[in-house]
Amino acid sequence: MQGYIINTVKVRDEDLLVSILNQKRVKTLYRFYGARHSHIQIGYKIDYEAHPTNKENLFQLRSVSHLPFKWILQRDRFYIWQQFLKLLYSHLRDVDEVGGFYFDLLEDISRYLEKENPKRVMIESYSKILEYEGRIHNDFNCFVCGEKLDKSVCLVRSYVPACQKCVAKRGFLKKKVEHFFRMHNSILFDADEVEELYATMLEGF
Ligand SMILES: [Zn+2]
Repeated sequence: MQGYIINTVKVRDEDLLVSILNQKRVKTLYRFYGARHSHIQIGYKIDYEAHPTNKENLFQLRSVSHLPFKWILQRDRFYIWQQFLKLLYSHLRDVDEVGGFYFDLLEDISRYLEKENPKRVMIESYSKILEYEGRIHNDFNCFVCGEKLDKSVCLVRSYVPACQKCVAKRGFLKKKVEHFFRMHNSILFDADEVEELYATMLEGF
C-alpha cells in the first residue's frame, strides 16, 4: 500500500507511532525500532505493509520503502511541504474515513513542487480543500460585522472574509480573491500577498 507520512510520535526509546494518509484514511501504525529499518520522517511517501499485532486495532508498520520525490533534497521546498502535512494531520486526525480526495491532492502537489513556487502551490491547494469541504466563503460579507465587502477583502483563518475595520489586516482587491477562490490559482497575487496568504494558511484549516 502507498501513503504519505503526515505525523510521527516517538514512544518508548526508539519506537514510533506513524500516521499515514492513504487512499482511504489516516492510519496510525506502530513501528518497532530495528537496525535495518529505513528512515522515516514527515513528508515521505512510502510503500508499506500493515501487519496485525497481538493488540486489537494496533497494526505494525513493515516492509517500508521510501518513494522519493525529485525535489526532496531542496530543503525549503521540503520544509514547506512538511508544514502543510502537519496542518493536514491536525485537520484530519479524528476523521475515520477521509476518502481519496486528500491523497490525490498530495499526489498532485508533489508533482507541482517539481517546478512551481511552493508557497503558491500550498495556498492554492488549501483553497481546493476549502472548496471540497464546502467552506469557501464567496458571499463576501465580513464575518464579524456583516458588512458587504465591495472592493477590499481581508482574509482570516480558513480564508474567511472580513473588513479591515474588524480585523486590522491587509486587504486584497476583491477581484483577485474572487479569481483565487474560483480558479484556485494565485497568479493575480504578488509575492507579498502570497506571503500573507501563506501565513494565514499556517494558522490552520
Ligand atoms: Zn467588519
